[in-house]
Amino acid sequence: YLLSGDVKLVRAAVRERDQLLSQAPGLIDPLGFLFSHYKGRFPGPHLFGGLLWAYDLFSGSSNHHYYPAPEYLLLAPNIDQRRLKGGTSYLDAVVDDARLVLRTIREACEEEAFALNYVRVQELLFEKNRVIGVCVKDEIAGNETDLFARVVVNATGVWADQLHSSKYNGPHIRPLRGSHLVFPFWKLPVSQAVTLRHPADKRPVFVFPWEGATIVGTTDLDHGEPLNSEPRISFPEIEYLLDIVRYQFPSVELERSDILSTFAGVRPVIGGSKKRPSSEKRDHSIWEQDGMISVSGGKLTTFRLIAQDVLRVAAPLIPSVEERGTPDPPFNKRKGDELPPISLNHFLRRRLEGRYGSHVMHIMQTEMNEDLERIPGTNTLWAEVRWGAREEGIMHLDDLLLRRTRIGILLEKGGTGYLDRIRDICRQELGWDLKRWEAEAASYKKLWEECYSLP
Ligand SMILES: Cc1cc2nc3c(=O)[nH]c(=O)nc-3n(C[C@H](O)[C@H](O)[C@H](O)COP(=O)(O)OP(=O)(O)OC[C@H]3O[C@@H](n4cnc5c(N)ncnc54)[C@H](O)[C@@H]3O)c2cc1C
Repeated sequence: YLLSGDVKLVRAAVRERDQLLSQAPGLIDPLGFLFSHYKGRFPGPHLFGGLLWAYDLFSGSSNHHYYPAPEYLLLAPNIDQRRLKGGTSYLDAVVDDARLVLRTIREACEEEAFALNYVRVQELLFEKNRVIGVCVKDEIAGNETDLFARVVVNATGVWADQLHSSKYNGPHIRPLRGSHLVFPFWKLPVSQAVTLRHPADKRPVFVFPWEGATIVGTTDLDHGEPLNSEPRISFPEIEYLLDIVRYQFPSVELERSDILSTFAGVRPVIGGSKKRPSSEKRDHSIWEQDGMISVSGGKLTTFRLIAQDVLRVAAPLIPSVEERGTPDPPFNKRKGDELPPISLNHFLRRRLEGRYGSHVMHIMQTEMNEDLERIPGTNTLWAEVRWGAREEGIMHLDDLLLRRTRIGILLEKGGTGYLDRIRDICRQELGWDLKRWEAEAASYKKLWEECYSLP
């Protein structure tokens, strides 16, 4: 981002990242990154170190270090050693995006927010050419209802354009797909994230350890598919990502058959005039038309600043919203209760506390001792699957396996080897009968085959 001149975005993101790291360890964690420098390849250690110096300046601490080749190879033993000069290590952060969003929504609801799941805004309601509410449809029950509000904020990401009226003349979204490959960790072991520049287009691609697996991503290309279908990786994207891994980790000899799963997302980027998707700016935009505020673009890291900007625009329309200098801390502090004395190692306790905040007590106090075991090959406890089913608005099995927990992308064949145990949890917690379970399992397997495996 710095190389493309997004200084404001970088400064805001670095400061927010540091706040999040201190507020929710176990959810947002530091992650070391490595960047290799080769003779004749850009950027060299001096320029790269200079860019990182700017990050460090925003962060107020020195987080990068250059290692000559022999020492660097101790950190990244599998990388291509031909013409290697050395490498730079630096510190950034990693998060489970779904858990960040879930914790934010849950804590907001504990403070009088009201959230609805599987409820779609069908159309806007107007009075004298101003938006005064929305008509929503419950996608499960099928009924529709009108909701009225002093301010409607359209924060529907990549779908934002679908809610605009025909007279709309504001910015438009350029949907850009980013896809990933997931490998078993032992196939592509990396101790920290490795930042690579793809030889084909010089874009950065990351290889990083995540939740017991190794992820390679991402791509960045125009998403021409219908937005209401689940995005999926394409064949050329698989080749693009495999190419860079083979190029940078020649000794690992990865094959397509080594891929555990794939997943893709679509970025809501405000469309500019740039030809290359990766040249589009990534910062957020907020605009108002007919009394509706739309917000799009931006980074997950800066979600709190984006929300604050939206409130600033909304403030004249809602007298009770008052401007405060600095936003509140992003998360509630867990009440001082001692955690139950169960045998969970420090890493797992911290992970649960970060992800579930105050609710960690309920997860740990499970009546089923066997639920406190990890699902093999992941850091996820069975207790999290049960908690998700019991408390986190599960309507379909893919909610539970792909967006509350991530076992659908971390386990072989989407975790179908564990479906018997998951069935028991769903039947106990969600009251699904056998017929419902079989329908859910069948549609999950179909979705997984179509969008989370190899095309
Ligand atoms: C591949 C990829 C990599 C990324 N990497 C990073 C990164 O490294 N760092 C970073 O900070 N950010 C990253 N991001 C960006 C970050 O994830 C986005 O900023 C974020 O997803 C956009 O958030 P959003 O809330 O605007 O949209 P979304 O997360 O898409 O949320 C929009 C919501 O609106 C709902 N919705 C849509 N239409 C309707 C309707 N009609 N009625 C009701 N609800 C509706 C959708 O169901 C969805 O839940 C990445 C994104 C992608 C796709």
